[in-house]
Amino acid sequence: MRFCPLFLILSGIAFLQLEAASESLNIYWIDSEGGGSTLIVTPAGESVLIDSGNAGVRDPSRIRQALVDVAHLDHLDHCITTHFHSDHMGGAPELAALVPIHHLWDNGLPEKDPDGNPASNWPLVSKSYKALPVQERHQVHAGTVIPLKGSRLQLACVISRQQPWLQPTWGNRPRTDSNSKPPLKGPDGSDNANSSAWVLTWGPFRFYDGGDLTWNTETQLVSPVILVPEVDVYQVTHHGLDVSNHPWLLQALNPSVSVMNNGSTKGTAAEVIQTLRALPGLQAQYQVHKNLRADEAGNNCPDDHIANLPAQCAGHFIHCRVTDGGAVYGIEIPANGHKASYVTRQK
Ligand SMILES: [Zn+2]
Repeated sequence: MRFCPLFLILSGIAFLQLEAASESLNIYWIDSEGGGSTLIVTPAGESVLIDSGNAGVRDPSRIRQALVDVAHLDHLDHCITTHFHSDHMGGAPELAALVPIHHLWDNGLPEKDPDGNPASNWPLVSKSYKALPVQERHQVHAGTVIPLKGSRLQLACVISRQQPWLQPTWGNRPRTDSNSKPPLKGPDGSDNANSSAWVLTWGPFRFYDGGDLTWNTETQLVSPVILVPEVDVYQVTHHGLDVSNHPWLLQALNPSVSVMNNGSTKGTAAEVIQTLRALPGLQAQYQVHKNLRADEAGNNCPDDHIANLPAQCAGHFIHCRVTDGGAVYGIEIPANGHKASYVTRQK
């Protein structure tokens, strides 16, 4: 059988279009039981882990499982440490023993305990972090863009060490209430205040991961001008604790979907739940864990939006799959069969 060259060219183009249409951006909220461990797999198959969970075998094993068994990748291209707390960096040494890590991004390892606690085990922790067998280390600054393949894809740092990105690629927005000052809480001397925060963009789709950035520092992103874009998916900052999640920031981000990487007794603060529920555009909330504290009544999302219901859990994850060049996305919890589709808002 003979094919004319034109047919071969046309079928080649059709195949490429089909391939482009099947491309997806994937985000996995891996259960580190109140820690941070968010895995991003880009349409080109590159991987970025934002925070590596707690020390020990449990969290690194769960990260490896998502990366290797679910996403079918054999290494981590980028690992970002938003700040130097054990629930965000503790898993890095064990993880590096399980999968090769190419690039490590952080705020620059401090010599002394980042919370100013002289009695901490910081010398041991920092020694093992310094010894991580990665290919390259990079210090993060506001405006740092992780080099990823894909012209419509961007992962950018919007704040680091309390310095916001003053000239973001999406521009800034004036506040309509520019005479008022944001409400503040007590000062935070911990390393949470230094946390880096990130905006992931693919076409029209946007996702915000603020690590554990705390209340007063969050105001730098929204006052005197708004430096963050509107987003589709909001990772509820700091596991849903009320020392974070300033309402001005959440109103500026104006998400359609929130995902909280809480623990069964960590996060899920009533004030944060109320702030989320008051957002006019929010369509759905998800939690990695059910809040099992005494205040659980009223401070949980519906059970089918929760990946792990009991306190002793198997470490189920939440998955977001963005398709059609960023136009639509689905949230699924494979463990309970929940699936829901959302349309990316035009911003
Ligand atoms: Zn944390």
